[in-house]
Amino acid sequence: MDLEKVNLLRNIPSVDRILKNEKIKALITEYSYSQVRESVRKVLDRLRLKLLNEKFSVIDEESIVEEIKRQISKRYSLKPVINATGVVIHTNLGRAILPEEAIRHMVEIAQSYSNLEYDLEKGKRGKRYTHIVEAVKRIVNVESAIVVNNNAAAVFLTLNTLAHGKEVIVSRGELVEIGGSFRIPDVMAQSGAILKEVGTTNKTRLSDYENAITENTALLMKVHRSNFKIIGFTEEVSIRRLCELGKNKGIPVMVDLGSGCFIDLKKYGFYEEPSVQEVINEGPDIVTFSGDKLLGGTQAGFIIGKSMFVEKISKNPLMRALRVDKLTLSALEATLMLYLDEKEAIEKIPTLRMILEPPEKIRKRAVRIMKMLKNKGIEANLKEDLSMPGGGSLPEAGVKTYVVAIKTAQPEELAKRLRYTQPPVIGRIKDDSFVLDARTIQEREIPLLGKALEQVFFSSEY
Ligand SMILES: *Cc1c(COP(=O)(O)O)cnc(C)c1O
Repeated sequence: MDLEKVNLLRNIPSVDRILKNEKIKALITEYSYSQVRESVRKVLDRLRLKLLNEKFSVIDEESIVEEIKRQISKRYSLKPVINATGVVIHTNLGRAILPEEAIRHMVEIAQSYSNLEYDLEKGKRGKRYTHIVEAVKRIVNVESAIVVNNNAAAVFLTLNTLAHGKEVIVSRGELVEIGGSFRIPDVMAQSGAILKEVGTTNKTRLSDYENAITENTALLMKVHRSNFKIIGFTEEVSIRRLCELGKNKGIPVMVDLGSGCFIDLKKYGFYEEPSVQEVINEGPDIVTFSGDKLLGGTQAGFIIGKSMFVEKISKNPLMRALRVDKLTLSALEATLMLYLDEKEAIEKIPTLRMILEPPEKIRKRAVRIMKMLKNKGIEANLKEDLSMPGGGSLPEAGVKTYVVAIKTAQPEELAKRLRYTQPPVIGRIKDDSFVLDARTIQEREIPLLGKALEQVFFSSEY
């Protein structure tokens, strides 16, 4: 190396020196100290490389500082947020946090070529769904399975394949709307199937289905109500009885289960939610459900059931447009593996862990958060409250939880300011308080939460 270069390299300022620059210090009030230091390191490293590879370069502190400012503002639009709402399956906040195992498998598959569609035994083209089918079959006693983009796609593809131009009989009490953009009648229309509503909003009997059957009936369909309940003077037909009718008449039965859960949640007090196994045991031909609701994996739609129907659906040309990529498949495969041991599933799948976490454990976390805030000089109180862990997935009235309540004259203003912190914090407003539900706050996020609140309470403009 020539002497000139050695001298130049020597002249690169140290990280500490740059951190003392007034403009950089100003950045520290806007971003966290560690974010700024990280950017300083990156820019200095890049400068060092540039000096080694190029003939001439000048070192001037001003331009280094400008480069650091540019570097730190180059942040992504999609970013992590702290979910302090208590809603575990929160569609707007990305639904499921993936298990570590799924993340690791996803990274491993993303970094390399894989046997995505390659049969290693035969040395020729294989099927991308084999990786999932085997995993599903180990959990549920089912003949066949495929996965598509989401449950909406699963319902659409099933209807389009099995009932295009034909009638599908559904109870009026099950014509649900999920999250605004998914309405059973609309999906039905788009798929080319003809909706035949039977019964009334509160009561549908087996004879209602039976009387509606004609030679043009392609499917009997049951839809899980997911986000609402019908109480009072009600009657509905069980999946088992509908399947008996279907068998007698030679018409297949489909169940849109919505939030497929592989664990019997009744054991834990969630009485409304049948497991996928239970539903399959009732005898339907096709069952569809989401990958990122109670299952706790990535966005996906499962179509499982009798081989002859699943095969037919998998051959629909639209399958290609709705197929899932390798990242989804790898995350799902790893998540499904965890279900082979129920205890492991509850510990390692964040969605299940948060939904089933005992209130006492949530309370301990809330106490820690409260103490941390108090140490920072932020007045906060521990309160018992109710979370709605399922979002639109479990129509429960609420489950006991503990929150940290911050009393403020302007809770809306505090909520708004917390949406601008790094990372943003989303909570609930209750009466004259902003509340942080400890159920959905991750252990590793607690220090970040403290920093975010500090930014809001002690930055000059608040
Ligand atoms: C959530 C839900 C859907 C839509 O599932 P996505 O995976 O969000 O597409 C369809 N049907 C029912 C009953 C649901 O609960």
